Formats: sequence, structure tokens, C-alpha cells
Amino acid sequence: MSYVSEVLEELIRKNPGEKEFHQAATEVLTTLEPVIEKNPQFQKAALLERLVEPERQLKFRVPWVDDKGNVQVNVGYRVEFNSAIGPYKGGLRFHPSVNIGIIKFLGFEQIFKNSLTGLPIGGGKGGSDFDPKGKSDNEVMAFCQSFMTELYRHIGADTDVPAGDIGVGGREIGYLYGQYKRITNRYESVLTGKGLTYGGSLARKEATGYGLVYITAEMLRAHNDTLAGKKVVVSGSGNVAIYATEKAQQLGAKVVALSDSNGWIYDEEGIDLALVKEIKEVRRGRIKEYVQTRTNAEYHEGKGIWTIPCDVALPCATQNELNGDDARTLIKNGVLAVAEGANMPSTLEATEEFLKNKIMYIPGKAANAGGVATSALEMSQNAQRLSWSFEEVDQKLQGIMVNIYRQISEAAAAYDAPGNFVLGANIAGFLKVANAMMDQGI
Ligand code: GLU
Repeated sequence: MSYVSEVLEELIRKNPGEKEFHQAATEVLTTLEPVIEKNPQFQKAALLERLVEPERQLKFRVPWVDDKGNVQVNVGYRVEFNSAIGPYKGGLRFHPSVNIGIIKFLGFEQIFKNSLTGLPIGGGKGGSDFDPKGKSDNEVMAFCQSFMTELYRHIGADTDVPAGDIGVGGREIGYLYGQYKRITNRYESVLTGKGLTYGGSLARKEATGYGLVYITAEMLRAHNDTLAGKKVVVSGSGNVAIYATEKAQQLGAKVVALSDSNGWIYDEEGIDLALVKEIKEVRRGRIKEYVQTRTNAEYHEGKGIWTIPCDVALPCATQNELNGDDARTLIKNGVLAVAEGANMPSTLEATEEFLKNKIMYIPGKAANAGGVATSALEMSQNAQRLSWSFEEVDQKLQGIMVNIYRQISEAAAAYDAPGNFVLGANIAGFLKVANAMMDQGI
């Protein structure tokens, strides 16, 4: 049995039930086989065993009082996975599906993603099974304050810097930051995605979606093609999906669909993004409200967004939203390129289909790295006590995405798999972290 298989077997045995973590670790480690073969020093130093075990895992009680005066109790998590190349960095997810396996898969992916940005940030992730959907602002504030009342002692500008993820946007970051400052009396870059009036970075909100489209455009450019005139399907309708749609439209593509966990909309004439922003960002409503105003558009309950024929698919909703059947349908309908705005939206089977059929495909850890990269730029601005202009941040983001594309294509080519960006992203992301871990000793 190979070293990689041994490590994976042990990981599954030691962490029963953590299926998303098993999936992410399997995806990464199996592509590292040729690197391990070339670098026997890694096995000698038990590097993979160390890599798959988080440096620290926190699980805590989050009690809060709802609007009716009832006491509610949620669970909070922060997994500080790897600090070899910088302070732990990664978002907080508030969603009822959150459990330790989900946070570990996200934290594990974050290690390689953050490495690919070229910036000095380690990997971490956190969150809670709290569901902000349907809660009042007051309840969200009560929850965030309680969450931070425990978390504050574990984080810090040079230690661990959380940000947003699903269910955690500007409102939640504001409440979390307020509580951190209230307790510690410190105005520091301990969270990113902050509001613009108190240390946030211009273009952070847009960064994940914009970055996704920049790297997609770069991949098309490498194939002498552009986004102009392309038909694009974007899943999700949160922050990533909205700004991916905005940038794709700016570059001349026609985005025809968006979704949420209830269903999806199809607008043949192209999505009216101002309307989507009004529904999602102002009203905090559901995507089906779109067809109340755009009566020519269709709303479909449930799954099925990947049955829409398109040139470019940008899954921006959540993990495992695109399975093997969806991938085969997209391929049959002539999809040219797939790039992931969400974390691990394609199942292992779907990924295999894309690779086997030579679809241009960029996995999330490379394609959605623009968000965390811009978080790191927010940390830099905070450290300098400066704010850069939108154009300056956006330009740096573009440079970072082009550089990620270069790294993943070079790594893929160097390991005899040109165009296989799953392998390219994993290897390029891994090598920097692995070498840093080797340098720093056991
Ligand atoms: N949650 C985002 C991600 O998956 C952003 C993390 C951050 O900005 O720290 O990368």
C-alpha cells in the first residue's frame, strides 16, 4: 500500500463520519502521489500525517436569547488547521448543516488555497450550526456577540483572522468585530470583510466573484478565447454569485441563471442584477421573488440548474451541489469551461468527468482564492493604517488571479498532466506549505 493510501486509511479510521473531510483529503492526497515519490524526505518526516491533523480544534457553546425571551444554544467551531506560512486565515460559516467534518474540509482546502494566493496566510475555518435565515437583526446580533465572547481569546491579528463565508456577511462581521473590540479594547485586523468605515477594504465584497471571473477569463485567453458572448450559468445567489455575475456581464457574457437552496431562475434575456441585489442584499429575500418583477423569466423549484445548456458553468452555491450526472449533462450540452466559486461544489465523480472529457476546469481552491487574497490585502492595509483605492485593490486581485493560473498550469505541466488543474492546484499549493513545514522542524 502506498504512503498516501496508508495516511488516508488512517485518517478515515480516526475521523469517522466526517465525510466531507474524507472527500477533500482524498482529492488532495491522491494527486500528491507523484510529489511524494519525488520527495522521500516528506514521508520520513511524517509530513502527510501532520498535514491532515489540525494544529488546534476548538468547539464551544454559544448560548443566546431570542426575541421571545427563550434561551437558545448553538455550537461554535474554529479549526486552526495549519500555520506554516502565516496566521490561520479563513471564514466563518453559519448554517444548520455545519459540523466538525464540514469545518475540517473547509479548513483543509483553505491551507492550499491560501498558499496559492502567494500571500503569507495559513489555513483555518470556523462557524456554527446557527441559521441566520429568518432571524431578526437583534437575534443575529445576540448570537454574534455570544459567539465572539468565546472566540476572542483564540484569535488575533498575528494568530488567527476569521472572515465571512456562507451566512456570514457584512452585518455579522460588524457585530462580531464590535464585540471583539468591546472585550479587548483593541482596534486590530482580527477580522476581514469589515465595513468600509472601520477598516474594511474596498473591493473585498466583490473579490471572490470578480476573482473567479478573472481566472476564468485567463483560462479562456490561454485557449485564444474570451468571455464575450458566452452563455453563463451561475449557481447560488449570495455574495460570490452576485459579483461573479457582475464581472461576467461587464466582460460581455450573458448570465442566464441563478439559484438558492429552494430553486433556480432562468432569464433568457440575461439576469437583471440590480433586481437580484435588491432582493438579496436589501430585502434578504429568496431568489423566486425575481419572477414577480421579471415576469418573462422562469422559476423552477428544486435542483436542476445544471440542465441549462451553457458555455461556462460557475458553481457558486455550496459543497457537492454538482454531481456526476450533472457533469455529464453539462458536457452533453457542450459546456466549455467550469470554474468553482464555491468550496468543493463538484463531487469527486463530477471532477473525474470534467477531467476525462478535457473540459477546462478550475477547482475552487484556485478559482475562488480571490476572496481570501483580498482579505490578506485588507490585513496589509490595516497593518499600514492605510486604505487603498478600489482600482488599486482590484488591480492587485487581477494580478493574483493571473499568477494563480500560471502556478497551477505550470505545476500541472511539470507533473505530466497539462491542463489538469486539480493536480496543478493541489501540488502548487502543497509544495510551499510542505517546504515551510520541513524548514520549521517537527
Ligand atoms: N470564506 C472565504 C473562503 O472560502 C473567504 C475567507 C477569508 O476571507 O478569510 O475562502
